[in-house]
Amino acid sequence: MSYSHLASSIAESPTLRLNEEAQLLLDRGEPVIHLGIGEPKNKAPISAILSSAAKLSTGDVKYSPTDGIPSLKKAIIRYTEENYDKLVEPENVIVSSGAKQSIFNLLYALLNPLDEVIILAPYWVSYPEMVRMVNGVPVVVTPEDGGLHPRMEDIEEAVSASTKAIIVNSPNNPSGLVFSDAFVKEIVQFCESKKIYLIMDDIYHKIVFDNRKAAPCYGFTHEDIENSKLIVVNGVSKLYGMTGFRIGWAIAPRKLVEVMTNIQAQTTSCASVILQVAAEGALTGPQSIVENLRMTIENNRNVMMRELKSIDAVKVDEPDGTFYCFPDFSAYIKDSVQLSELLLRKARVVTVPGKEFGMEGRLRLSYAGSVKDITEGVARIRWALDSNSPNEIYIGDRKMVRDWL
Ligand code: PMP
Repeated sequence: MSYSHLASSIAESPTLRLNEEAQLLLDRGEPVIHLGIGEPKNKAPISAILSSAAKLSTGDVKYSPTDGIPSLKKAIIRYTEENYDKLVEPENVIVSSGAKQSIFNLLYALLNPLDEVIILAPYWVSYPEMVRMVNGVPVVVTPEDGGLHPRMEDIEEAVSASTKAIIVNSPNNPSGLVFSDAFVKEIVQFCESKKIYLIMDDIYHKIVFDNRKAAPCYGFTHEDIENSKLIVVNGVSKLYGMTGFRIGWAIAPRKLVEVMTNIQAQTTSCASVILQVAAEGALTGPQSIVENLRMTIENNRNVMMRELKSIDAVKVDEPDGTFYCFPDFSAYIKDSVQLSELLLRKARVVTVPGKEFGMEGRLRLSYAGSVKDITEGVARIRWALDSNSPNEIYIGDRKMVRDWL
């Protein structure tokens, strides 16, 4: 059977394969610890549940306007004003089935075949795949100094006459870094001077630690929204731990929103009205849940850092935000897929190989789960890799002996 060149160009994901393997182990009753997950364990806000349940119980569940129900757009406008100090119009907002669909619509709307999009490594796995899916060319820029923070000089070098957009994700999945205010300012001004679109994927912008704040990018532009090259993507997935509700949005110039709306009209028609009402409930309800979630995750980050320090040759940049860290395990095993496989098969710990994010020798570890999972997961990783650790460990109720170091 042959599939289109577009479909077959989408990379096979080692993560999917590893997750399937982990699921088979779980089904067999094996004590698998998941440090791969990108979602917190909290329940959805009660305001989201009540408002969507009320809508559902009317039985009046129909299509919504393609770009989103007006009352949710109003809540998003208020959110944008409160968090970005930017007043936008309803025509600047499009609601999609997750931030992921907003980003896909954006790329579909912006790119002509062979247009280039600059993606900063380490990057969220979906960016290069989405760019390829719409016949664009992902241009990956890796910090030349070997670090995780992007550098303007590397980006400037990668820009060409075909560069249409740059995607910036801060706080960053997978590194957990919040990019410096100076960097955000510089890249906003650079993109505006070069007429390059700047897609700010701000999905983690409320999960920031140590009293820091992710710099709201609108503060660095003097352009009116209709002339600005800035596009901001956000959603309820990480903000409220509402990943399964699949509601995200983009703020963009109205002409671009119009094109994105046409694209959405021919794909999903609109996000589910029940879930839009749920997102509105979350945005207009008590916001203490956001801070509670942030504090829990910050505590988990601290536990993860403390535990990782006990593995001799692991190097890790302390995350400023998100649910992830991206430690360097290259002193043990350089091939990250091989490393993830070993940790799953020997230690029953799920991790995500750095290769997926464009950097080898590293693993993405999530601290969105429980403190117990973090502590035990890292203890198992230490046992599997570090010859200075005792060579026996209990995994579940089985005593395991390390015989491969
Ligand atoms: N951007 C980044 C950086 C993400 O990590 C994710 C989710 N893992 C998304 C976007 C997509 O979020 P959503 O659930 O709203 O589609």
